[in-house]
Amino acid sequence: MGKSYQVVVIGGGIIGLNTSERLIADGHQVTMVEREGIAAGASFGNAAGLAFPEILPLASPSVIKKAIKWFLDPVGPFSVVPRDIFKVAPWLFKFLKSTRASQYKTSINVQASLMHLAAETYPKMLDRTGLQSMVRTNGALSLYESEASFNADVENWKYVAEHGIPYQTFDKTALHQFQPGLSDKFVAGIYASSWQSVSNPNDFCHAIFDYLTQKGVKMVKKEVKKVSDKVVYLTDGSEIVADKIVIAAGPWSKTLADDLGDNIPLIGERGYNTTLPKSAWPELEHSLVFGDHGFMVTPLANGVRIGGASEIASLDSPANYKRSEYMLNKAAEMLPKLNPEGGEQWMGRRPSLPDTLPVIGYSSASDNIIYAFGNGHLGLTQSTAMGEMVSQLIQGKTPKDINMKALSAARFK
Ligand SMILES: Cc1cc2nc3c(=O)[nH]c(=O)nc-3n(C[C@H](O)[C@H](O)[C@H](O)COP(=O)(O)OP(=O)(O)OC[C@H]3O[C@@H](n4cnc5c(N)ncnc54)[C@H](O)[C@@H]3O)c2cc1C
Repeated sequence: MGKSYQVVVIGGGIIGLNTSERLIADGHQVTMVEREGIAAGASFGNAAGLAFPEILPLASPSVIKKAIKWFLDPVGPFSVVPRDIFKVAPWLFKFLKSTRASQYKTSINVQASLMHLAAETYPKMLDRTGLQSMVRTNGALSLYESEASFNADVENWKYVAEHGIPYQTFDKTALHQFQPGLSDKFVAGIYASSWQSVSNPNDFCHAIFDYLTQKGVKMVKKEVKKVSDKVVYLTDGSEIVADKIVIAAGPWSKTLADDLGDNIPLIGERGYNTTLPKSAWPELEHSLVFGDHGFMVTPLANGVRIGGASEIASLDSPANYKRSEYMLNKAAEMLPKLNPEGGEQWMGRRPSLPDTLPVIGYSSASDNIIYAFGNGHLGLTQSTAMGEMVSQLIQGKTPKDINMKALSAARFK
């Protein structure tokens, strides 16, 4: 075991939680600082997927064609809030640049290595915390309404195969046998068996936090104003001194990094959902992915969640719950077995970077300040990998088999 440090972790989302968990396993003393409460951000209501097979970046050559079509639809899967267009234009510009084939391939390789690390470290975290019963392997089934969209996606899945991730394709007959309750308009499917789900993302975060509390992790419910080498400054005027500081504050990490001289194009990419009671479709086992419509349906332990979409907006823009409604109506149309009554709507902000990769590494101001944010659509899945990499960085080591340059804050300079 290496040297033991006093570490402050900023942010009580899934990244802060699984980072803290990994650090106490190393013997460090951890204090978490969270301004609202555990799982106050996207970690509360995401789609619950441990999406290890999801290595294809959103910024892809094929997304441009789809995005232009979606863009024209005010509640479509990908849109920009008009009043925020100037604020988010630099992010959009970098996103477009990231759709180049060369960047797309780099992002796939880096995502694959992160997912490999995540799949390796998740079971270890579950063993240490005893939370195995909150995770199940239920697989994810992608659904297609036309041969053309299926064939286009099969091309993308070839990259997935190159990284040794198993999947199966279904023709119409096999699809409807495998998953009853689908509209007849679905003509093909792709099933990724290694996809897992947590029982409920908010409950999962709280269960990790309970474990951390038992292990002596201190929680300070305050807001961080800024950090400097070894000092965390809180908005109430108090300070916390630490050997190491981890910034895991989701999309709000941007302000803290800006103050340290690292201008990172991080936004809160908004997603929406509706959570129905479990009785909405009690037999649903697999997660269902509607790629052409940008949403998915996930069976939770205590409900059925329908959501997704990507809305580019500033952090303080008001939510537009018509999106939740729109996805629910679409799902009801395509899933005759689903009862759409009695749902609760939610909006969350994914911490997203234009190249679909997170930021993990030292700040330019100090090696005692470590960034761990920006996992976009995949933060729940990659949280144990982020914790593992932070653990290595704190010990002054470089995580093995990961292209850390592609994940550094400096890549946007
Ligand atoms: C609709 C939707 C579906 C998704 N589905 C999936 C999925 O199936 N699988 C998956 O892997 N990922 C999914 N995600 C993405 C995932 O939810 C996020 O990547 C992840 O939750 C980000 O975690 P985080 O800890 O980085 O940020 P957050 O959960 O946002 O946590 C950051 C925390 O920091 C706190 N904070 C911020 N600033 C300060 C400050 N100055 N001082 C103190 N505290 C501060 C906030 O209050 C917050 O609690 C989905 C996201 C959405 C929106």
